[in-house]
Amino acid sequence: MKIICVGRNYADHAKELKNETPKEPVLFLKPETAIVHKNMPFFIPDFSEDVHHELELVVKINKLGKHIDKQFAHKYYNELTVGIDFTARDVQAKCKAKGLPWEKAKAFDGSALVGKFVKKEKFESVHALNIEMYKNGETVQIGNTRDMLFDIDSLIEYISKYFTLKIGDLIFTGTPSGVSKVNKNDTLKLFLESEQLAQVNVK
Ligand code: MG
Repeated sequence: MKIICVGRNYADHAKELKNETPKEPVLFLKPETAIVHKNMPFFIPDFSEDVHHELELVVKINKLGKHIDKQFAHKYYNELTVGIDFTARDVQAKCKAKGLPWEKAKAFDGSALVGKFVKKEKFESVHALNIEMYKNGETVQIGNTRDMLFDIDSLIEYISKYFTLKIGDLIFTGTPSGVSKVNKNDTLKLFLESEQLAQVNVK
């Protein structure tokens, strides 16, 4: 199982990090060991002083596929959730400055929180879903999938040109603006539409 992540998929977030709006999706991977186990806290790694939360819609692949055409992409997933792409922003800034890969900043143990999955049939359209995150009771990130630069089906088409998608693979579809540092004892709650699908404590 692998995790494919999309960077800079919301213009407002690309802007807040002073990045250009990309002309094609920005991709990176996380290994299976990045997943935060159920009911476990998120532990801030000792190599970072500035770990950020990135709230994202997460899509679970349910069918093997390669070179998937956009018009058929919806057949390759039927469950969605929200998750966090935890990012060691200070480490990433150093990688970016040197033009190096981001894995140490993005793919470390515990860097992928995944909520409880729900069936996509529950929603009228996957292309207009609200995602929201509360930190210590206050909204810090709010977004809607209609504001993605590349929608889910376009991402599946693009990703599957490079990587065969397998059953159980996860796609983190990018974060809206509002990323911020997490601190010890923070509580993060993640919502898809009006349903809370994850909660995590920071240690
Ligand atoms: Mg992200």
